[in-house]
Amino acid sequence: MHPPPAIHILDVPVHPVTYAGFLDLVAAFIAEGRPRQICTANPEFVMTARRNPQFMAVLQKADLVLPDGAGLLWAARRQGQVLPERVTGSDGIYYLAERAAREGWALYLLGAGPGVAKRTADILTQRYPGLRVVGTYAGTPADEDYPAIAQRIRSARPDILLVAYGAPKQDLWIAQHKDDLGAAVSMGVGGAFDHVAGVRRRAPQWLIRLNLEWLWRLATQPWRWRRQLDLPRFVWAVLHSSG
Ligand code: UDP
Repeated sequence: MHPPPAIHILDVPVHPVTYAGFLDLVAAFIAEGRPRQICTANPEFVMTARRNPQFMAVLQKADLVLPDGAGLLWAARRQGQVLPERVTGSDGIYYLAERAAREGWALYLLGAGPGVAKRTADILTQRYPGLRVVGTYAGTPADEDYPAIAQRIRSARPDILLVAYGAPKQDLWIAQHKDDLGAAVSMGVGGAFDHVAGVRRRAPQWLIRLNLEWLWRLATQPWRWRRQLDLPRFVWAVLHSSG
């Protein structure tokens, strides 16, 4: 099964799917069994990819690129195309866990700070009885940590591997290693474990609805300001692209 044809935003392919379409694709990927990569893109991803050809190549080769940021929906609209809704890692992880509990899919949670993946697993299994989380590990994306991580994941045999190392590290890591790990689906989820575990508070719904989640991140993680300059740069690039 293939996702619907991608919409290209400044050369980055983004698939026009809803949460329901995302979950159906995950089901198909698991049924098919060969290792697939899912990315959760936003304007920062797009601008990073324009500076980092390796990251651009990973996004272009990914099996599914979800429209995680409101800016992508705006950019598509400007091109006369439609991305139906935001499909985020931070909300997607709940939908995925709910479906996984019903279908019997096994999850492995890799990344985030010490204990955060474990706490995320505890919260999700409590919320979705029957959910199988077959392993959690913080690890790091550094090469010297890889053998230990690979050994843990291979012996746990997950269907879905969620990786929270932030972009682009998590996505480069998945592209490099997914064929070696045995999970049918590997997905970079950024700060999603931090949000589920309550380590970091996500923006309130009313701000998200106003497309101002970036403002929340700026206020609560001011050290990201330099990275967040990518948002106005993205707007500028879209307005001046011929796409
Ligand atoms: N992280 C990690 N190891 C690293 C770098 C990051 O575990 O070497 C984790 C960090 O603890 C956080 C997540 O990766 O849980 C990244 O969150 P961030 O919000 O920066 O990612 P984004 O959503 O912006 O991609």
